[in-house]
Amino acid sequence: MSSSVAYSNVDTIERGPPSEVLKTASGHNIEVYKTEKPRPKVESSNLGFGRTISDHMVVCEWVNGEWGPCRIVPYANFKLDPASKAIHYGQEIFEGMKAYKWNDGSLALFRPYDNARRFNESAERVCMPAVPEELFVESLEALLKIDQDWVPNEKGFSMYIRPTMIGCDSFLGVAPASRYVFFTILSPSAPYFSGGFKGISIFVERDFVRAFKGGVGEAKTGGNYASTLSVTAKAQKLGFNQVLWTNAGDHTTVEEVGAATFFCVRKGVVTTPPLTGTILRGITRSSILELAKSCGYPTAEEEVTVQDLFDEIKSGDISEIFCCGTAACVTPVCKVGSENETVVVSDGNPGKITTELYEKLVGIQMGNVDDLFGWTSKVEN
Ligand SMILES: *Cc1c(COP(=O)(O)O)cnc(C)c1O
Repeated sequence: MSSSVAYSNVDTIERGPPSEVLKTASGHNIEVYKTEKPRPKVESSNLGFGRTISDHMVVCEWVNGEWGPCRIVPYANFKLDPASKAIHYGQEIFEGMKAYKWNDGSLALFRPYDNARRFNESAERVCMPAVPEELFVESLEALLKIDQDWVPNEKGFSMYIRPTMIGCDSFLGVAPASRYVFFTILSPSAPYFSGGFKGISIFVERDFVRAFKGGVGEAKTGGNYASTLSVTAKAQKLGFNQVLWTNAGDHTTVEEVGAATFFCVRKGVVTTPPLTGTILRGITRSSILELAKSCGYPTAEEEVTVQDLFDEIKSGDISEIFCCGTAACVTPVCKVGSENETVVVSDGNPGKITTELYEKLVGIQMGNVDDLFGWTSKVEN
């Protein structure tokens, strides 16, 4: 397909021919249109999370039943039809990944094909087309190389990667869109623990739920997060950092912490709730389970009831709690509260196993600990 003009309704900026056409290892073409106005980089001390976006983005549009050319273009606004499905019916999915800069200056991704697979599982759930896995990964690798100067150098910083797909249309019917845009943007981000490795407090939520059996809890789709905003605000007003979600219906079992996976150490067993369709299949979750086993700790994927949670924190049987995810890394939980009571986990400091798993995971991601699992994937220059 010729691409000397804008391809579609979304990326409407007229550009001449691409400055370069990259051929990826799996044979996809990526057309590169470099910005003529690179923006000044943001000082690491002003980065925070998700506020700064790099100079370029990946854009690929699905029209007439197939993917059009994949392009890397200057970061800019889209032009969206106000009737688009993403806007009215939440036909949107996303992923969250990170690229890490190693001491030798090279860039590494963490299990990127797992994100590509999960992206397509989310796509299927909300009736969107699959993105070829190689295209998903290779296009973000190409983008990372072009914007590599945006990757922060400082210890603990990383490049957060947000692959996204939206349904676009000019028809208001509740039906799958006829056009889709897959895009990936990059956000240089500060370490999650800029204030030191400290525990957070969580509020057990028993009025609202984020997911229910048969729903979309397992998909990374926008509406799942919109519905949490007011509930998180309520918990924060009560003095807690995050919400501990419970199961829909009777609210008796623990599900997730905000947008991260719940873990506890229960009589020495590293325990997380089972995947029953309401919990996101976290890539950090599966990594922590494998890491814990390799460190010699028994693991379990089993239900934790709210009653047991409070009782066992008080008895000391639950000695550590943490949550994990790409953004949250491994975050210790030091306090659990409800309308009735608030309990402190052990002495309120990050636990020994939590700290060990955190250090091993970050060590592998940063290339400082041998990756015995084949999780890291270098972005070749
Ligand atoms: C993204 C996400 C996670 C963490 O998944 P990772 O693959 O570990 O980053 C956990 N829970 C929810 C609800 C999420 O959206």
